[in-house]
Amino acid sequence: MKKFKRYLITSALPYANGPLHIGHLAGVYVPSDIYTRFLRMKGEDVISICGSDEHGVPITLKARNEGVSPQEIVDRYHALNKKAFEDFGIAFDIYSRTSNKIHYETASDFFLKLYNKGEFTEKTSEQYYDEEAGCFLADRYIMGTCPHCGNEGAYGDQCEKCGTSLSPSDLKNPHSTISGSKPVLRNTLHWYLPLDKYEPWLKKWILEDHKEWKANVYGQCKSWLDQGLQPRAVSRDLDWGVPVPVENAKGKVLYVWFDAPIGYISATKELTPDWEKYWKDSETKLVHFIGKDNIVFHCIIFPAMLNAEGSFILPDNVPANEFLNLENDKISTSRNWAVWLHEYLIDFPGKQDVLRYSLCASAPETKDNDFTWKEFQARNNNELVAILGNFVNRTLVLTKNYYDGKVPERGKTGPDDNAVLNEIPKIRENVENSLETFQFREALKEAMNLARLGNKYLADTEPWKVIKTDPERVKTIMNIALQITANLTIILEPFLPFSMEKLRGWLNFGLRKWDDAGKTDLLMTGHLINNPALLFEKIEDEEIERQVNRLLATKKSNESSATKTVPPKDPVTFEDFAKIDIRTATVLEADKVPRTNKLLRLKIDTGIDIRIIVSGIAEYFDPKDLVGRQISIVANLEPRKIKGIESKGMILMAEDKDGKLVLVSPLEKVSNGSIIK
Ligand SMILES: [Zn+2]
Repeated sequence: MKKFKRYLITSALPYANGPLHIGHLAGVYVPSDIYTRFLRMKGEDVISICGSDEHGVPITLKARNEGVSPQEIVDRYHALNKKAFEDFGIAFDIYSRTSNKIHYETASDFFLKLYNKGEFTEKTSEQYYDEEAGCFLADRYIMGTCPHCGNEGAYGDQCEKCGTSLSPSDLKNPHSTISGSKPVLRNTLHWYLPLDKYEPWLKKWILEDHKEWKANVYGQCKSWLDQGLQPRAVSRDLDWGVPVPVENAKGKVLYVWFDAPIGYISATKELTPDWEKYWKDSETKLVHFIGKDNIVFHCIIFPAMLNAEGSFILPDNVPANEFLNLENDKISTSRNWAVWLHEYLIDFPGKQDVLRYSLCASAPETKDNDFTWKEFQARNNNELVAILGNFVNRTLVLTKNYYDGKVPERGKTGPDDNAVLNEIPKIRENVENSLETFQFREALKEAMNLARLGNKYLADTEPWKVIKTDPERVKTIMNIALQITANLTIILEPFLPFSMEKLRGWLNFGLRKWDDAGKTDLLMTGHLINNPALLFEKIEDEEIERQVNRLLATKKSNESSATKTVPPKDPVTFEDFAKIDIRTATVLEADKVPRTNKLLRLKIDTGIDIRIIVSGIAEYFDPKDLVGRQISIVANLEPRKIKGIESKGMILMAEDKDGKLVLVSPLEKVSNGSIIK
């Protein structure tokens, strides 16, 4: 393995249109943090770079839906995610953002350099334009009828009903989601990165020179390369992003996939004036931590960009993970099917390490994996509490009780003691080898073996019994147990930084370098330890049930909103709203209107009068079930004659996705004629 002088670690820039969830953490940030902490302890020159990805259509769409500016959306999620990372102990050297000035400059310069070198091709194509709104329409801004299934709400890039991916010209009856008008095709000029030109070089660089990459990463690259690469547009017609820095590019910005990875470079510039040594010296090892959905961007497109630019190094490794599912279902931001980091930190205060441990122990390293709350609880109770916590607690409490907290002298050791002592440096080596090859699950398992070793050693030697017959022997046992504990504070530090800090406090022992791990004389005889407390607490069933119930409620809510919701109506003034007299009433009588299928004649008490309302709800209600029900009505709707009966008002109903009508009633009984406002 090549020895590098320094390390540049990047972690995928989270998209600033939603909060972070456990899928992000398990896929990218927990492994990248473990790796970075390990390298720092090794004394390596390492910087860890991340930030918010703040451009692209989904952000402008979200802003439009909420009636706020894109800047407000990215400000909100940048602040939320930055704080969640800090509170979770993800130790980036910088958490920047792509709406920063330094990023605009860096991305612009990068584009210009390629532009001036003639690395782009230009092409004019026809795209939909909204004449009312005066702008070109991104695929997601166009809706129409799916040519495959007839769904009238298909998007320009995909029909979500039948799952077919579409291009806007496939849609029948296209309309703009901005103005509702029918868009027209107009010519627009864009710049393309000719990936096909880099194909032979990429084939050699990845398929021959990087056979050591993880199988899932290598396999996906190979499949992309085997299919053949196509030129890819680097610009978009959009008003949110880094403007294309050339003439005749008004209203055009850099495509988000082009601008986002340059964000790593701008963030490094922001961090240190020495940024070039990290990006331009072949003695630097560049490692991109990403999820599998980003493989093509980090292994093929970004390297092609860097190669075209010419002065940058390329990634040495891209240890992408697969996806983490939640309770056997795909994690989804739009369906709210996730464990959100900022919520976890509130629900489980002080338990950052439990989630770090649980996510690392079941990380989706080679295939998709599942997170369940039951397993989370078992990892905590059966491993962190029962193995690590138990061993550490026994060791510290016995040392307090027998020796007033002073490390006892190690006497003559027997073969069993020596076997244990010899095992410590071996474990360190195994952990190290696994970390260096990005096998974090294996590394954690091996690190926990040190706690298992200690636990077993105490169980086998039983110092609490031997103390009555052979106190000298117990000194040796406790000395060895304490050396194991001191080693744990080093070996587990990258994985469980919060707990190891506590443990070091109890041991009265500073943070050591990684290379001190494996030593069996870390704690000197006579060294005084502090009063210990519990390292981990049991997580009770009720806490887990609360989380599971919350997910079940989400599932229910998703099922009831699976219908295509009607777009919001135009705003009305409060004065207009206040003109409508909505109030509660009680049904006194209900009868079918003769010779009709749908109509019911209802006599109701409105609190101000007794009146008749005719309502088209006969298919959904048995008249006798309605009598006595409290309902909501519009009381001042102009009277209408229906089948010869004068109807004075309207009953409020909610229409379910299958067209079923449901009464809108107050949840608690109120007096008739109560105003609804
Ligand atoms: Zn369809």
